[in-house]
Amino acid sequence: MSAVLQEPNQAPLVCLRQLNKHYGDFTAVDNLSLDIPRGEFLTFLGSSGSGKSTTLSMLAGFEAPSAGEILLSGRSLVNVPPHQRDIGMVFQRYSLFPHLSVRDNIGFPLAIRKVADAERKRRVDAMLKLVQLEPFADRRPAQLSGGQQQRVAIARALVYEPSMLLMDEPLGALDKKLREELQDELRHLHRRLGLNIIYVTHDQEEAMRLSQRIAIFSHGRIVGLGSGYELYQNPPNAFVASFLGNSNFLPATALSDVSVRFDGQVLGIRPGKSLGAGQALMLMVRPEKALALSAQQAADTPLPAGWNEAPAKVTELLFLGESQTCSVMTASGTAMTVKALSVNGLDVAPGADVRVRWAIADACVFTEWQEEDLKKA
Ligand code: ADP
Ligand code: MG
Repeated sequence: MSAVLQEPNQAPLVCLRQLNKHYGDFTAVDNLSLDIPRGEFLTFLGSSGSGKSTTLSMLAGFEAPSAGEILLSGRSLVNVPPHQRDIGMVFQRYSLFPHLSVRDNIGFPLAIRKVADAERKRRVDAMLKLVQLEPFADRRPAQLSGGQQQRVAIARALVYEPSMLLMDEPLGALDKKLREELQDELRHLHRRLGLNIIYVTHDQEEAMRLSQRIAIFSHGRIVGLGSGYELYQNPPNAFVASFLGNSNFLPATALSDVSVRFDGQVLGIRPGKSLGAGQALMLMVRPEKALALSAQQAADTPLPAGWNEAPAKVTELLFLGESQTCSVMTASGTAMTVKALSVNGLDVAPGADVRVRWAIADACVFTEWQEEDLKKA
């Protein structure tokens, strides 16, 4: 397609092209490429050390890439200093100026950009309103709660109307309830302002609550990219399956493209992969997609078409309030967990023989994995 014919808002705002960051022999960011559409709320999610902050720092201009390119609206950023990048930044530590009032903290980026007093006052007032801190305008940071301080930091990052806001674990220091409140505020703020937000967290629930898309980081690479829904329902690999939510992994052997042997039985798998007979596979079933039926229940309810069943023995039952879990061991010693809403009840007892059932369509099939992918991060 010709660049001339393309609508400007269809082009990505940010393009990362084969971005690398090496520290000596160590590769912190490994050949990472990513397009970020205009207006998106994107989250970098991954465990500690996976390269999220380093990638964000290269975008902000605090770190120089070892190789690769960063484009903002098609223009290379690599030699542009941070303050000329049209990017706002918020960190976990608020880094507010302790001796300045809330109003002067928020106005600081305008003061150093020599914005005239009247215009500065207008914009700071608008920001105070946006983050609901008007009554606190004359306080010092030490006279505010952590959540209020973080709102000052957000207002300060937004006051010069950057086209993009980068946030590195900005709510990490706050307690859970306040964090959830600010997550809701941030999501609404994003909707109202329509700017790009790139958000870093190691908290999957936070990523799910906030983002339109999530990029899952591992060892300096993006190993999954999509909406929380897509990544959870259809993880692209065993690592993402295991990282997001809980997973049952069942080692199986292919018999055909639609059937496997597991635990000495023939089970169905959903079509879509071309498999060699005898090939080792890993099936993945989410705990809430599996059912555990007592022997009596199983006898009363024939296995529906399109479902699998494996015999197992209950090892543990846990009541978790809203939900209950039932841990079982299959004949060949594969541990599985079944999760049910408490209102639906799990009518089984520890030590009992049960039948674990799941719909064939609900099980993912992986042909490649590493042992470490199957462990909870
Ligand atoms: P994350 O934000 O995902 O926790 P980082 O991007 O901060 O991870 O770090 C990725 C890896 O790069 C880590 O192993 C970290 O130790 C390493 N790293 C980051 N900065 C430096 C540095 N200045 N020198 C050496 N290694 C670094
Ligand atoms: Mg980090």
